[in-house]
Amino acid sequence: MSEMNLQEAVVTTRLDAVVNWGRKNSLWPLPFGTACCAIEFMSVMASKYDMSRFGAEAMRFSPRQSDMMLVLGTVTNKMAPVLRTIYAQMAEPKWVISVGVCASSGGMYRTYATLQGIDRIIPVDVYVPGCPPRPESMLYGVMKLQEKIEKEGLGMRKDHIRRFYESLERQKELEARTGLTGQQAIREMLLDAAATGAPTIF
Ligand code: SF4
Repeated sequence: MSEMNLQEAVVTTRLDAVVNWGRKNSLWPLPFGTACCAIEFMSVMASKYDMSRFGAEAMRFSPRQSDMMLVLGTVTNKMAPVLRTIYAQMAEPKWVISVGVCASSGGMYRTYATLQGIDRIIPVDVYVPGCPPRPESMLYGVMKLQEKIEKEGLGMRKDHIRRFYESLERQKELEARTGLTGQQAIREMLLDAAATGAPTIF
């Protein structure tokens, strides 16, 4: 038997590098589709663009089986509590891509009924600009998210998610104490945050 060459037989690495490699190549998308961007997203999953090339083809409509939410379309204030609940139910660690100008900033809907950016109520990792963004742009957004995951420390996301859950508890407590609906409670929290100069409620 030939002498074992340790350099060929052994690979050394860091735990976070291996874990992040697995995470970034096995993202499970959850489409939160509310408008036209969701139609554009259908082509991203189809054969021409084919998101499975990036290991992210296992699309699920259950938040418990997903870790990458794509918000695709206009989000109204009425939908804000639903979006927060679905985000809360997703498996951890979890990531969010805001697709299109509507999700990212309210877009052309500068109205009292439209949430002026989902990042006010849930953490967002990547923004894809456009109206609608081309399928290539969405794929580029997924690639940017993969780059981000690759560089993350394993504990980094915990703090981030803890702050979100704390804000969800504050929302539930406000609803229970005042009888407000989820939509009204979020609005109150947004107004309070704006008064202190904070851009988000978490
Ligand atoms: S960004 Fe444009 S394409 Fe996307 S949901 Fe808004 S209006 Fe529709």
